[in-house]
Amino acid sequence: MSSGMRRGFLLSTTHTGRGGPALGSRVTPKKIAEIKIPCHPENQPEEAPAKGETTDDMTHLVLTVVPPSSPLLPDPDMYSALISFKTQKEKLLAIPGFPTSFTTPSPPVYRVQRAGGRFQGLGMFATQEVHIGDLIVRERALLITTQYVPPGPDGRPNIHAFDVAVHQQMSAPRRAMYLALSNIFPELPQTLGILNTNSLYIGALPGYNGACGGVFNDISRINHSCRPNAVFWWDLQSFSGQIRALAPIRPGEQIFITYIDMWPTRTVRQATLLKKYRFRCACGACTLTGAYAQYSDLRRAFIAMQLGDDLDGSTTDADLLAWAGNPALPDTMLVNAAELWLNWLLGEREMEERLSRVVFSRLCKAYAALEDEEAVKKYARQAAAYETAWTGSDGGWLAVAAAPQETAWWGLRRKARESNPSS
Ligand SMILES: [Zn+2]
Repeated sequence: MSSGMRRGFLLSTTHTGRGGPALGSRVTPKKIAEIKIPCHPENQPEEAPAKGETTDDMTHLVLTVVPPSSPLLPDPDMYSALISFKTQKEKLLAIPGFPTSFTTPSPPVYRVQRAGGRFQGLGMFATQEVHIGDLIVRERALLITTQYVPPGPDGRPNIHAFDVAVHQQMSAPRRAMYLALSNIFPELPQTLGILNTNSLYIGALPGYNGACGGVFNDISRINHSCRPNAVFWWDLQSFSGQIRALAPIRPGEQIFITYIDMWPTRTVRQATLLKKYRFRCACGACTLTGAYAQYSDLRRAFIAMQLGDDLDGSTTDADLLAWAGNPALPDTMLVNAAELWLNWLLGEREMEERLSRVVFSRLCKAYAALEDEEAVKKYARQAAAYETAWTGSDGGWLAVAAAPQETAWWGLRRKARESNPSS
């Protein structure tokens, strides 16, 4: 998103280190709706390799499995079929220790069952109470593939690769799982239709910047909501996808992720979902009426504007420091603004990672400057939970919650008043 405006007040970096797996591809949880067809000019710019990027390697796909076959591996269900370019495969397998093992909650904290109501197929439901940040499931994909598929010998996209991957590479149980997934594109070959219906965007794999998608046995069953209570992310090092809670979830409650960007208006979101996934969203945000619907659109527009700025980049704490050091400014100035943003994010259930992190960081710094211990603890604990949802680690926030006085921001307002007694 580009924006000519600079909006200053949220520009700040968190002082806590960025957690998460160094090699993890942290991406927005949207599904890939279609394999882009290289012979369609309108699909070229994003999906096809740029001129000069194409190597000999990229004229054809390589089919393999991850981890590489070995008679020593005990669990054949932990394999992903991988469709990639040769360089990608080589770079992946060259990562030391790749892929690392992982665990998922056992016994499971969810069940896949008929969703009922407005949903046609299955959905994922919590079987016990889940808290923000909790891991719900971690899973190796049935199939991982590049989104760009080079043409075959006949000049058409080589979708034959999907048939080979599913019918020749997968074990019988894995193949049965794949073929049991829903297919909303009956006009396409079955393996491709299932891929387009179920694959989640996992970002790029080493060796090529183009997008890749993953199809999962359980994770792909999760339905969409524009007010999701869970988030999907992909970890390259363990070659697994994971779902973590973004809201408290009660037993029996359905688990939702978002398939698309959340900030567009309801009209735009609905059109996107209808086109890409062929359903009309009837989530809590999409069924609002009148002024409530307008308010939701407006809040999402504000969130989008903030995201238009480079929150991760050239951001500083300059305005926070200026406020902290100037007793003439109101005590509540920055916390009021940040709390308003947090309420908007929570109200839309749009806990966007970068923006939420900035808001929590500002709240904790400002309240530390004001020596409000309870407020710092409250927001640092919330930040820890969300950080865990986004990255798998609390990012240092629990240490802040344990000892707010230890932060560099503690008491800055008092110190400023003491050195400016006249203000
Ligand atoms: Zn919706």
